[in-house]
Amino acid sequence: MAKRSITEADVRGKRALIRVDFNVPLRNGEVADDTRIRAALPTIQLLLDQSAAVVLATHLGRPKGKPDPAYSVAPVARRLSELLGRPVAAVSVVAGAEAERAANALRPGEVLLLENTRFEPGEELNAPDLAAALGRLGDLFVNDAFGAAHRAHASTVGVASLLPAYAGLLLQREETALARLLNNPERPFVAVLGGAKVSDKFAVLEHLLGRVDALLLGGGMANTVLLAQGHHIGSSLAEPDRVEDARRLIDSAGERGVLLALPTDVVIADSLNSTKSKVTPVSAIPADQAIFDIGPETVARFCQQIADARTIFWNGPMGVFEQGPFANGTLAIAHCVADASAYTVIGGGDSLAAIEVAGVAERIDHISTGGGASLEYLEGRVLPGIAALPDA
Ligand code: ADP
Ligand code: MG
Repeated sequence: MAKRSITEADVRGKRALIRVDFNVPLRNGEVADDTRIRAALPTIQLLLDQSAAVVLATHLGRPKGKPDPAYSVAPVARRLSELLGRPVAAVSVVAGAEAERAANALRPGEVLLLENTRFEPGEELNAPDLAAALGRLGDLFVNDAFGAAHRAHASTVGVASLLPAYAGLLLQREETALARLLNNPERPFVAVLGGAKVSDKFAVLEHLLGRVDALLLGGGMANTVLLAQGHHIGSSLAEPDRVEDARRLIDSAGERGVLLALPTDVVIADSLNSTKSKVTPVSAIPADQAIFDIGPETVARFCQQIADARTIFWNGPMGVFEQGPFANGTLAIAHCVADASAYTVIGGGDSLAAIEVAGVAERIDHISTGGGASLEYLEGRVLPGIAALPDA
């Protein structure tokens, strides 16, 4: 069900409290990657253009419910000001008298950034008093923080019931893209899943199995499934306690007629620092070696499926792409996904990093800003931050 959009609000002369996801990486006190800030600009700009005053709330990192200078949003205010080309006022509190004074002093077209919402213990508890205090900072509430939509916090859910609430443009764009994967995707629908652990993503695998035509598995996740198939995987990263789940996945794919594709050849080495890596069939992995990437034959098989697809979802690198000798599989798959004529969606922090390294980000239809949120959405779960908004 679509949510009431900010495009339908009359915001002239009003104070709009916008929950954004400015949870960006910092380095040496500056924003190291401003992708998430730029993703929220259309909503902010829309409100400023319509003579609203904008009050922004975000979390940043995990400061554990108390102020911690290492997680201050001050660097974010500086970067946002550059991107907007106008001043961004900041307060050193999340809510309360000082924030109210600053919010009330805003004139149309002015911007205020509140301090990190997770400096307040009430944020993650969705405490009513914090929600009420946030509610006093705006005349309306806009949720544009898709990346935080899977959390029922005071600034995502609590405040949404206290003010007229709307979905922001980014939140809408994310939901539209992910809904297109779950509801009547054009076929063949191919999902490519990798990354470090099966346990993090097992629920997604199960839910997607009922919707996709092919599931291509790589990375550490594939290792557990190879184990379930009886392969010897040496010292590879795997989760032996999930082997039963992996067996169920194999059976369930068979029953549904879904192609479950696993690596047939892999890149192995005795350690991540080893300079001696080699390609081997999955049937011949020595006990003292570990899988760190998919091999060229597997890349070719996966790319064939990707080329034939009409819809593609990719989450999780195919190998330890951070290390040169083990990056080939992931980078090759990134190029195949970019070359595909399918509708392509990518989610996951490390997957996005891989797409950037491959230099193909512009050729992907939708890159989700929310790793955890996009996966929970694809598990078929209702995201509380979205559910808290009124229907269109
Ligand atoms: P995302 O952030 O895209 O959701 P994950 O966090 O699940 O992805 O997984 C990314 C990590 O998985 C990367 O750091 C990568 O090095 C690691 N990884 C991928 N394949 C392997 C492997 N075969 N062995 C160990 N680690 C792996
Ligand atoms: Mg990750």
